[in-house]
Amino acid sequence: MAISIKITKTTQSRISECDFNNIKFGNIFSDHMFVVDYEDGEWKNAEILPFGNLSLSPSTFALHYGQAIFEGMKAFINNNGEAQLFRPLDNWKRLNLSAKRMGMAELPADIFMDGLSKLVEIDKQWIPTLPGSALYIRPFMFAADNYVGVRTALKFKFVIFTCPVNAYYPKPLRVLVEQKYVRAFNGGVGNVKAAGNYAISMLPTTEANNKGFDQIIWTDGNEHKYVEESGTMNVFFVIGKKVITPNLDGTILAGITRDSCIKLLKSEGYEVEERKVSIDEIIEAHKNGLLNDAFGTGTAAIVAKIATFNHNGIDYNLPDVNTREVSNFLYKQLNAIQTGNAEDKFDWNLPIRNAAINI
Ligand SMILES: *Cc1c(COP(=O)(O)O)cnc(C)c1O
Repeated sequence: MAISIKITKTTQSRISECDFNNIKFGNIFSDHMFVVDYEDGEWKNAEILPFGNLSLSPSTFALHYGQAIFEGMKAFINNNGEAQLFRPLDNWKRLNLSAKRMGMAELPADIFMDGLSKLVEIDKQWIPTLPGSALYIRPFMFAADNYVGVRTALKFKFVIFTCPVNAYYPKPLRVLVEQKYVRAFNGGVGNVKAAGNYAISMLPTTEANNKGFDQIIWTDGNEHKYVEESGTMNVFFVIGKKVITPNLDGTILAGITRDSCIKLLKSEGYEVEERKVSIDEIIEAHKNGLLNDAFGTGTAAIVAKIATFNHNGIDYNLPDVNTREVSNFLYKQLNAIQTGNAEDKFDWNLPIRNAAINI
């Protein structure tokens, strides 16, 4: 059953203040946002309104107990001038996986897709068209009870806002293989997009930054032996001709970019292995001259190449990033598919006009 969305458009668009050639990631917000509340066992008060502050009680549950989850996704303008979303239902599914694990209410597909598509349509002018740029979309949910007793929350707020973003070309990364802190452990929440996963990574990342590293390579929580993720991205290694990425064993976030990369590589005839990969194996491959590429994948950057990794105080340098066959192919191909400049053989793009399930 569809819920109706109350729409209040801004009378003062801020779009003329946005310099589309020069946007810093994540600090320019489009004109509108979508908000819907969960109360008394149902989703209600769906609304699109001008982007602005939320009014919250100091007792808001999520501020104390961290029941908060989010998603990150993108919209593009295709060659016909239409807005299109990239794999939005995969983000919806993952949102609900996160909601379930964090004891939060699941959001029906129609509310997610209707809110999302209406919002993107209303703010279509905010979708940048420069090569590599996109409208970054941030759906999130938090426990909204005004209550500081500890029990499962009963009220939730789900919000979507969007940010125009330019192409993001991270400089080749110098990464530290983490030996002290852990990001995730068996039975924990490493496989869901919980806000707290980011909270616990801040201090370790700052410490790594202070030692001259851009990012951390997270290792498993038992032995610090197996590689898990690169910062907040999934991680891939190319050893000889084989592409290897850690399997989704419960401590790793199932990135949609990761999945897209695996499918694209397989369709191009690459051998891709999803399995445990130890730091010893990577060092051994490096010694034998077989470590040809290493990179992180995620929605924001698509691909972030690793230039150097450091393990126990030793730097291991990888080949020049311009010579990297796999990461360069993936960046170019995914970007081309997302903007309608390459065949979308997996049917990943969803034009906005087809996105609403129930409007
Ligand atoms: C969001 C995220 C990713 C990347 O997921 P995408 O769907 O590709 O954007 C990878 N690792 C972690 C820990 C994440 O939170």
